[in-house]
Amino acid sequence: MKRSTILALGAAGLAGFAAARAYKKDHKVRLSSTGKHVVILGGGFGGLSAASKLIEMAGGQLRITLVDQHNYHLFTPMLYQVATCGVVPYDVAIPLRSFTGPRGIRFRRATVQNVDFEKKMVQTDAGAITYDYLVIALGSTTNYFGNESAREHTLPLKSLEGGLAVRNHVIDCLEQAAQVTNKDEQKNLLTFIVIGGGATGVETAGALADAVRNLIPRRYPTLNKNDSRVIVIEAGSKLLEHMKREMAQIALQELKNAGVEVWLNTTAKNVNNGNIETEDARSISAATVVWATGIRAGDVVSELKTDHGKGGSITVNGFLQTDHPEVFAIGDNAAAKSGGESVPALAAAAMQEGHAAARNVIRMLQNKEPIRFWYKDLGSVVSVGHRVGVAEIAGRVIGGFSGWVAWRVVHLARITSFRNKLATVLDWSTGYFYDVDTARLEIQERKQAA
Ligand SMILES: Cc1cc2nc3c(=O)[nH]c(=O)nc-3n(C[C@H](O)[C@H](O)[C@H](O)COP(=O)(O)OP(=O)(O)OC[C@H]3O[C@@H](n4cnc5c(N)ncnc54)[C@H](O)[C@@H]3O)c2cc1C
Repeated sequence: MKRSTILALGAAGLAGFAAARAYKKDHKVRLSSTGKHVVILGGGFGGLSAASKLIEMAGGQLRITLVDQHNYHLFTPMLYQVATCGVVPYDVAIPLRSFTGPRGIRFRRATVQNVDFEKKMVQTDAGAITYDYLVIALGSTTNYFGNESAREHTLPLKSLEGGLAVRNHVIDCLEQAAQVTNKDEQKNLLTFIVIGGGATGVETAGALADAVRNLIPRRYPTLNKNDSRVIVIEAGSKLLEHMKREMAQIALQELKNAGVEVWLNTTAKNVNNGNIETEDARSISAATVVWATGIRAGDVVSELKTDHGKGGSITVNGFLQTDHPEVFAIGDNAAAKSGGESVPALAAAAMQEGHAAARNVIRMLQNKEPIRFWYKDLGSVVSVGHRVGVAEIAGRVIGGFSGWVAWRVVHLARITSFRNKLATVLDWSTGYFYDVDTARLEIQERKQAA
């Protein structure tokens, strides 16, 4: 390596270290114990954006408590990379206390069980919490649309555990395929089906095809990469249903270029262990079926005593208030409209709603009228496998390598923790030069001795 390169890398390292130190020093803990109590349920995209806006507008004058069942914020847009060995799970799990502590926000790790709107009280498995204002941002869960066989036999991609389960399952399939001699069994183990041709399905299928086809010749030389298949099954007539047709066409072409089969206008009917039947009477044998479609509100949210909209989400008015004006619902929990259109269940929408709800809490405290929420579509980015992506930015659609770079830039900017940004860049850089990591991470809680 050239001396100038070593010096440049050293200088960049020192600058990074100095920036990290300065960042750490700047954040002193200040917990306010006075003022109205704002409780935020859920440390996802909506919850964190509401919390940061409240701090920005009225930090020190409010008591803010954030409640989440996990002690980390899950960066879902990169979950498919956990599932396909592109990044390690820790990259996408950002400790919530690294966000709340420095900002003077109280954090309660607890599972929300119910809300008593009359008593203004949240019931959790770790006790009750009373509030003056409440922001409900508990996200969504997988919707199998009543397909019991799918619920039982597919791998959902919705949580960190889910991402890790897919990753381990894929590695297991490759390991088993390398040991069996029966050709049909081997092909079954090397067939990967992704149900759902939305952004998550496209990204997962592209990355799976990339990982499997690159890994087989280098790490599993007894296998033939041509025996592997990655198939996307999509009920609609196009991929990326909610995005521009041009984006869908690029994604379809790029998936095909990567060797992925795309079955459009096809609905998965019966999913049994190792076999999948479609409504148009097709049948395929596959050891891996990933469910990458459909969301609904979790039971806690859908059973709350308030008005509900599609999929159990909570009906809100134009100011994101529920039928109790001091209670707001945002993100995937809110059946919100903007300009007569339903607001999409996206991280960007949840973040905008978080800001809007926080602004309206402050306005209510100031006895001012709340402001109407308007959703601003900031474009979309989708990664489609090996250094290929498709993006819509400022109305322009770009594909190929530029689309892939746009995906990386947008998501890196969105990761809230500097530490996780660095870790991700490091993982991406090693992934660029080396094969993906295929260590099977067996994470089991150690049982307490009786
Ligand atoms: C695999 C995947 C990929 C995605 N990719 C993109 C993308 O690329 N771009 C995009 O814009 N959107 C993407 N989305 C959608 C995006 O993640 C959601 O729209 C967004 O997270 C919604 O934000 P939220 O705040 O409503 O919920 P979330 O971000 O899901 O946060 C909900 C929080 O509530 C907590 N919680 C839930 N139930 C309880 C309970 N009972 N008690 C306590 N805590 C609880 C959860 O632990 C979680 O931290 C993706 C989603 C998935 C699943």
